[in-house]
Amino acid sequence: MSSVSQHTGIVSFEDARHIVEQHASRVSAGDVESVGLLSSSGRVLAEPISADRDLPPFPRATRDGYAVRAADVARVPVQLAVIGESKAGALDQQLHITPGQAVAIMTGAPLPPGADAVVMIEYTSQAGQAVEIKRSVTARENYVPRGAEARQGQLLMDRGTLLDPATIAIAASVGMSRLPVFRKPRIAVLSTGDEIVSIETSPGPAQIRNSNTYSLAAQILEAGGEPVPLPVAPDDPGRLRSLIEEGLGSDLLLLTGGVSMGKYDLVEQGLAELKAEFYFTGAQIQPGRPVVFGSCGGPCGAGIPVRAGGGIAANTRAGMPAPHKYFFGLPGNPVSTMVTFELFVRPMVQALAGMKPRPLIFLKARLKSDVRTKTGLKRFLPALLSGEFENAEIELARWEGSGDVAALARANCYLVIPPDREQITAGEWVSLLMR
Ligand code: AMP
Ligand code: MG
Repeated sequence: MSSVSQHTGIVSFEDARHIVEQHASRVSAGDVESVGLLSSSGRVLAEPISADRDLPPFPRATRDGYAVRAADVARVPVQLAVIGESKAGALDQQLHITPGQAVAIMTGAPLPPGADAVVMIEYTSQAGQAVEIKRSVTARENYVPRGAEARQGQLLMDRGTLLDPATIAIAASVGMSRLPVFRKPRIAVLSTGDEIVSIETSPGPAQIRNSNTYSLAAQILEAGGEPVPLPVAPDDPGRLRSLIEEGLGSDLLLLTGGVSMGKYDLVEQGLAELKAEFYFTGAQIQPGRPVVFGSCGGPCGAGIPVRAGGGIAANTRAGMPAPHKYFFGLPGNPVSTMVTFELFVRPMVQALAGMKPRPLIFLKARLKSDVRTKTGLKRFLPALLSGEFENAEIELARWEGSGDVAALARANCYLVIPPDREQITAGEWVSLLMR
């Protein structure tokens, strides 16, 4: 594993993402707990699962028709003697096909011994005990051999697998009614700013309701973490510091607001006082340029309850001496907060949840109308992907800047504009990131 780079300052989008990914590869998940299969969606498997028997457990017909010997139907039409029936769920031990014979068979039923193919019912006609076969089949056609999907004992899913509908089906097919999963990482959320008030109070004329704690909590849940909301921190160094310390008791701390260059942007200073190490203090992106990523270890961790089995243990395992807590300082503008979570925080939450972080998947679509921007920053702008079937078209959502969370709600993706483009013309293929 390459060593974790020690960047400070403002880095490109790609470098920022790589720095987070490197650190994410060094953390591991917490304790293991057991959940019922019905409530396992979105959790991460903590132990490997193997096939408890061959899959399929018998040679399984994939069509309704007649089980035959392919050699018997090499020339068609041909008459075969029907000696019985194989239906799903029943295994007739007496059935054994010899030359000139066939067995009526249904989808999902076991292929009787002696047969090596199934002729689809559409190409047959039965009269009494004889069936006329009108089309040839090759050996192994229209059935799945026993053990073709997996042999007994073969690994089906490794630890770290995200449980989704397909993987839950696999667990069910090997009879796991409960699954060992990793405890969800606890992600502290600390919104900052004198103007930010709790949504339970009625805001004064210059006050803003705290929406970031809630959007982040929703994003954390989606990424497989458990949000731990903290009270809003005012722009007061002492109070901010004690809330940061509280937040560092979780597996990861997310701060919002207070990371820009304003007089009251106190977050970086507060973290620095706690001997934080910064991996970057900005990324060349818009929205989200002031985003900060770093960790507190050693002295900063002193006096902070480090939970057994938390993300920290992972770092010790990876050879880092002191307990380590990662944090992100996200810009306070609601759109910037959400975008920087998607771009940088999500992989860390996934890693702490025990899974391999998912790469960002960029897609291409045709631009619907011209776009003008300034150069220098990589832009992730709220946009609308539309068009029928394969004819995807994209256009910018109308928006009033990084505070316009309603624009994001109208959008369904981000249009990605490279830092060197000033003008993109309608009809060009452009990159997008789904949200
Ligand atoms: P800051 O990053 O602190 O300079 O804040 C940038 C903008 O985002 C300001 O207009 C803030 O009022 C707004 N903002 C900061 N934190 C929140 C929050 N938790 N909820 C909603 N808006 C916020
Ligand atoms: Mg502020």
